[in-house]
Amino acid sequence: MISFRDPWVILCYHGFTSSQRETLDDFCFVSREKFERDLDDVASAGFRFVDLKSGIQNLALGCSTGPLLSLTFDDGFASVFDVAGPLLQKRSIRATCFLPSQLLEQGRKPWFVEVLSAVKRSAKSEFTFFGREFSLQSDTDRSVANRMIQSYLKLLHPLAIHLLIDDLCSELAVSRSCNSPELRLASRSECELAASTKVFEFGAHSASHAIHSQLSMAEVSKEIDESLAWTKELQRGENLFYAYPNGRSGDFTSFCISSLKNRGVVAALSTIPGWNLSLRHRFALRRFCVGPRTDVRKFLSGWRWRIKGF
Ligand SMILES: [Zn+2]
Repeated sequence: MISFRDPWVILCYHGFTSSQRETLDDFCFVSREKFERDLDDVASAGFRFVDLKSGIQNLALGCSTGPLLSLTFDDGFASVFDVAGPLLQKRSIRATCFLPSQLLEQGRKPWFVEVLSAVKRSAKSEFTFFGREFSLQSDTDRSVANRMIQSYLKLLHPLAIHLLIDDLCSELAVSRSCNSPELRLASRSECELAASTKVFEFGAHSASHAIHSQLSMAEVSKEIDESLAWTKELQRGENLFYAYPNGRSGDFTSFCISSLKNRGVVAALSTIPGWNLSLRHRFALRRFCVGPRTDVRKFLSGWRWRIKGF
């Protein structure tokens, strides 16, 4: 029975660093070692890995034989296939990658990766942005600058973000292009190859990764149509899922939900933290984002106690 005792949990990862040390101090990048530990922790906490389709079926039937867990990877980083792929294959786990179609097609990076890269690469020891002074003397300073600038930019229209990243790069005296292999998004042919291994299936994650609540209705429709068409072609199947860019409460609207329903999407995923107990939030399924310092073992072994008060 799907219940507080036996929920469906969906975890959201982004990219991976290949070395043991988290070389990119950003929430979106975890090491291979940590991911492997997380997989072991999920299994030892009694959760069974299922793909998204099975998770939805269990919610629809209201039954399961124990707590379920699905893995998702947002944004299409090539490291998901290189680092996570072999670990998933070894354990016969199927996972879903949510891809921003236009960025992959054009070989571009999401804007937040451009911010991280510029702050990491700059040789300056301080800079000013948005009227605020930032220090770059230590790794911690750089991490703080990266986080704060990302949180400012999240509030803006994508065109404004694009222009401001030009300003940021000139302020930091770095070029906008970056060749770090850890920040690279996969190509279409790499996605096709990954699909053939049966480890990965794909969902749409908008075209340009613009936060939908910052867009006009026409812009939202374009983001959804373009990415659904691209993903359907890649996936060659109809069980299409969608993940909202950024995905927090307030990042998508009821117009987004009705647009996805009208286009036959099975379900949509948010990054609103929580477990899934019914189809009530089918177009805003709850997910827990995992960063380098998220203790998955503690998190999963503690969930029964934390919900005792419900
Ligand atoms: Zn994303």
